[in-house]
Amino acid sequence: MFSSMYAGGIAGMKAYPVRVEVDISRGLPGFELVGSLGKEVREGKERVQIALKNAGFSLPVARITVNLSPADIQKEGTGYDLAIAAGLLACMGTIDPGSLAETAFLGELALDGEVRRVNGVLPVALAMREAGIRNLVVPAENAAEGESVSGIRVTGVENMKEFLTYLQAGPEERSRLFSERREGARQGGGAGGQEKRGTPDFSDVYGQESARRAAEIAAAGFHHLLLAGPPGAGKTMIASRMAGILPPLTDGERMEVASIYSIAGKLEERKAGSFTRPFVAPHHTVSPQGLAGGGRLPRPGMLSLAHRGILFLDEMAEFSSETLEVLRQPMEDKTVRIVRSRGSWTYPADFMLVGAMNPCPCGYYPDRNRCGCSDTQIRRYLSRISGPILDRIDIVAETAAVQLKDLRGGEKGESSAAVRKRVEEARQRQKLRFGNGPYRFNGELSGRDAERYCALGTGERRFLERVFEAGEMSLRAYHKVLKLARTIADLDGEETIGTRHLSEAVYYNGGRKQFWKGE
Ligand SMILES: [Zn+2]
Repeated sequence: MFSSMYAGGIAGMKAYPVRVEVDISRGLPGFELVGSLGKEVREGKERVQIALKNAGFSLPVARITVNLSPADIQKEGTGYDLAIAAGLLACMGTIDPGSLAETAFLGELALDGEVRRVNGVLPVALAMREAGIRNLVVPAENAAEGESVSGIRVTGVENMKEFLTYLQAGPEERSRLFSERREGARQGGGAGGQEKRGTPDFSDVYGQESARRAAEIAAAGFHHLLLAGPPGAGKTMIASRMAGILPPLTDGERMEVASIYSIAGKLEERKAGSFTRPFVAPHHTVSPQGLAGGGRLPRPGMLSLAHRGILFLDEMAEFSSETLEVLRQPMEDKTVRIVRSRGSWTYPADFMLVGAMNPCPCGYYPDRNRCGCSDTQIRRYLSRISGPILDRIDIVAETAAVQLKDLRGGEKGESSAAVRKRVEEARQRQKLRFGNGPYRFNGELSGRDAERYCALGTGERRFLERVFEAGEMSLRAYHKVLKLARTIADLDGEETIGTRHLSEAVYYNGGRKQFWKGE
């Protein structure tokens, strides 16, 4: 007896249909699983066998071979159990395989017959739809993830009993199974996902004009940003509002981001459709692997969870240098690559870095009335942000402590929506400028292309030369200033970079000079 079922497979970010072929024939009794399989896939043999036995189905004493194809892709994880079980039942004549030709399965079986949650249901649902598969059976716990994909019917099953009910029902009946549960979940609205928590708004920030402006410029031109200043200067308050001034995710981006969360096992019961721009803030004790991703069965790390959004490193100087080093390559390539002996995994990591830090161990430098740190202490503290990382950061803004008068008499700040409108307009201008070329934002320009896209008039060039000669700007800062001036002009709606744009750009590079001297 032979049968064939579809399962959903995932390699890195890519999901694809896997053929699970089951053959039961006479011969030396045995049970073999073949086709580039990881340890967890192979252990499925025991899980499926016992779960079926506990549901009253004993496998025949015969030669059983299960082949997972395509063989050239390494298969990992526990999600193949349901397809293997369905294939075995079809071979044993318990169910009609003909009615399952357009159905794929994804889920782990526990020994007691419970169907356990798996990662990656969302990208699998998208890929199965793409492949023309019309039904997907997944663990009930993951069903909401798949239901956000239109054009494929996703059914969640809690245990072997429900799984059998599904398999033995007719095609018409299947579509109605467990629908009350689905309805209930919909009315419950999921379990308080990201979309429910209100994003904090810039209107709650009093004073801090220059840090707010730095945040706006960073968001408009995709410039990585470092806020340096004493405790209580509202650095975290500004950073945590930055996702709210970026344009909303497009539909494509939303599915892409939600797929990463699904593969990382962090989509919970959130509806992928209402996902907002990520704001990810790892604690400074996070491990390099926690940031980059990895594990025995590789999963996306926090850099990928911040994809298309903000990665906020609070107390940036407190992160270990080994951890900060992990940022370098993704800030360049916008992807994270995890290499293992059995293959490599690439996850997207196109995030905007926002760092915040005290400028010295006590936090009050350069206020020498309050800061008693020695020059050596200060230098050592600042040098925790290595040159190559600092080099990738366009804006180093110095933030000042919030004054009492700002809180009392200060005007309520501008709302995030108003700032976002300017950011969106500036981004629109960049889109027109760069077209379909390799760049999307001013912040991405290489040194040479910065000169090309940020051309200056004679007067403006002379202005920058004077700034440089006065020692207000290092040679390394030159291209950063050009790119920032371009973004500031874009926020201004100006096609030509003027002296006022340049001088503001020089100002937002001031923190670098103030703290790191000529870096
Ligand atoms: Zn100090």
